[in-house]
Amino acid sequence: MMKVTSNFWFHEFAPHGAGRSWLPQNKIMQLMIKQLAENLQIIRSYFSKSRFQVSSGVRTLVDYARLKDSGYNPSKTSDHYCGQAIPLEANSKKFERFGAFYNFAVGAADIVPVGVSAADVFDLAVDFNLRNEVNFGQIIYEKNPANNSEWIHFSNNPTSFFQLKVCEIFQRRKYLKSVDGGKTYSVAG
Ligand SMILES: [Zn+2]
Repeated sequence: MMKVTSNFWFHEFAPHGAGRSWLPQNKIMQLMIKQLAENLQIIRSYFSKSRFQVSSGVRTLVDYARLKDSGYNPSKTSDHYCGQAIPLEANSKKFERFGAFYNFAVGAADIVPVGVSAADVFDLAVDFNLRNEVNFGQIIYEKNPANNSEWIHFSNNPTSFFQLKVCEIFQRRKYLKSVDGGKTYSVAG
């Protein structure tokens, strides 16, 4: 087990089913997790009595297949792929923009705060990001009314890894909220 920051361990960002001895599989993945954890730590330190549980970190192609087989419609351009290239279908819209592989997954983690509401963490994180105290590319508040669960999706800022002109091609809305389990999103922040 290896720490990334004072409150985060590498294995917390591991793909589904990996054990506590998991470490990033390559330098790029390590760099992306480190940057994500360092920014998360700033938010986490503000809520000193809380705990931030990582409910989803690095996603792999195996995870993609598992989700697809389970009837979900996982995105091939999710930041959760954390530096791993994902093959795109020929003739698809994404193929037209990115080519045969999506190479721009900059790293993301879903956080379930314990001891503080996810909405409060979201508001503070957006505020800190706007003031450049942290550097996230995207912050999304998600609530699933079916089981009353809520979490926050955090991703790295693509400009930390790619030129601005490249980032413009896959730019995303920075601050979003969904309270219907991801069916619809509203712009926040
Ligand atoms: Zn996520």
